[in-house]
Amino acid sequence: MTTHLPIDHAFLRSSPLPSHADADDKNARGSVLVVAGSSEVPGAALLAATAALRAGAGKLQIAAVRSVAPYLAIAAPEALVLALPETPDGEIDPACAPQLQDNASKARAVLVGPGMTDEESAHRLVLALLACSPETSFVLDAAAVTSFKDDKATLLTHKGRIAMTPHAGEMATFLGIDRDEVSANPVEAGQRAADSTGSVVAMKGTSTFVCDPDAGPWLCEGGGIGLATSGSGDVLAGIVAGLLARGATPLLATQWGVFLHAEAGRRLARTVGKVGYLARELPGEIPAILQEHS
Ligand code: AMP
Ligand code: MG
Repeated sequence: MTTHLPIDHAFLRSSPLPSHADADDKNARGSVLVVAGSSEVPGAALLAATAALRAGAGKLQIAAVRSVAPYLAIAAPEALVLALPETPDGEIDPACAPQLQDNASKARAVLVGPGMTDEESAHRLVLALLACSPETSFVLDAAAVTSFKDDKATLLTHKGRIAMTPHAGEMATFLGIDRDEVSANPVEAGQRAADSTGSVVAMKGTSTFVCDPDAGPWLCEGGGIGLATSGSGDVLAGIVAGLLARGATPLLATQWGVFLHAEAGRRLARTVGKVGYLARELPGEIPAILQEHS
């Protein structure tokens, strides 16, 4: 039987995040590039980007399809917004990948995938961005995870740089098995994904397992049913990216990320209600939780 290490208060105390000096500027606090959304789901980019800043990143770039970029720029005035060409389906045209490389090389953390369903686009974008600065860490979510279902070996060559945040359906596609099989044994699925890719895997569900090729697994008790809401996973991916930008390793960023997300859910359940709070309300909870655990 697998033993799960708990991600709880004691764990966080023993595994602190990198701290910043009071005199640090925004560059020292780390820059995030969020490549996300589509014409139908532009909000995913906004949710992830807001979460990255709330997790403490110092600078933010959002890369999104041209048709929604101006709206994102108004909704996220903190961001530098890159307006990218789009496919007829309203997803990012992967032909623009070289154009993004320059921006990615300026970022300490790159998140690809929230709100994206076009696997070909996601795959080509991630491959191009992985080829940039080896100092940059990645979070892969949604189509950016499933697009590697037949190309796990490439991820393995980037061991130590990547965290991924699939839910059970995405994990089933990634592993080529039934969703029921993932749901029956999520930690086994998460560990298979981690071992075959060298990546840290947040196997999301009612509770979330963090699997790593070399240690763990860890279990983070879920934040409650209210987290089962549109955009919730986009916020988690953004939190992890923000922590990577601050200098956390993919493992530490994922462990803290799943805890912060769950704790934000618990707090909103108390103050707003068990269900009915919005994913956009989660990021605002993060700074206080971070402060209490620093
Ligand atoms: P996504 O499906 O990508 O939006 O991600 C959903 C997020 O909500 C993940 O972080 C899950 O762990 C979390 N979540 C989903 N359902 C539940 C639930 N019933 N209880 C607690 N957390 C949940
Ligand atoms: Mg999702």
